[in-house]
Amino acid sequence: MLSYLKQKFHIAKKDEPFETRLELFQANFFNMPHHLWITESKALKRAFLILFDSLNDKLLQILWKKNLICLRSYGVLACTLSLPPQSDVLIVYPDLIKLLHSASLMHGVSILAHEIGHIVLDHSHHELNPVLAQLEADAIAFEMGLGKELMEQIKSFPVSDEYQLRIENLTSLLTQHSKKRS
Ligand SMILES: [Zn+2]
Repeated sequence: MLSYLKQKFHIAKKDEPFETRLELFQANFFNMPHHLWITESKALKRAFLILFDSLNDKLLQILWKKNLICLRSYGVLACTLSLPPQSDVLIVYPDLIKLLHSASLMHGVSILAHEIGHIVLDHSHHELNPVLAQLEADAIAFEMGLGKELMEQIKSFPVSDEYQLRIENLTSLLTQHSKKRS
């Protein structure tokens, strides 16, 4: 327990380089007992490493102040949880776990990036038009370099007005981005 606490309370100094702070953030995350289900699986650990490696400095700074906890849903009927106060919980369902184990790993990571977007933007604590919240979270996934994968993933969902809007939003972000690059 003591070593857990010691690891948990690694504090990154503000003037430390981005890479050091990112490494500390990842170490803290993987050391949490809640995340054993991730570290025990090679594929899942890799997926979360790719996810966090996609963070930029601004997103890392916001996430650093949060208490991010990722839980795995086993599809049981009910469960009780006791979580640290003020934690932001990301629940991963069996379909996403399957995706993260497949050749379409990056599509799964793009969904995680979208969820990170909701957390970074504090959506659970604000009243916001639900479609707008989806578009904003998509924009964060785009910022993390996972916009193309996310768009492809949404295209595989059954057609709906909301999904159509999200596809158009991501297409426009990706087009602007490629224009800037060329
Ligand atoms: Zn969402």
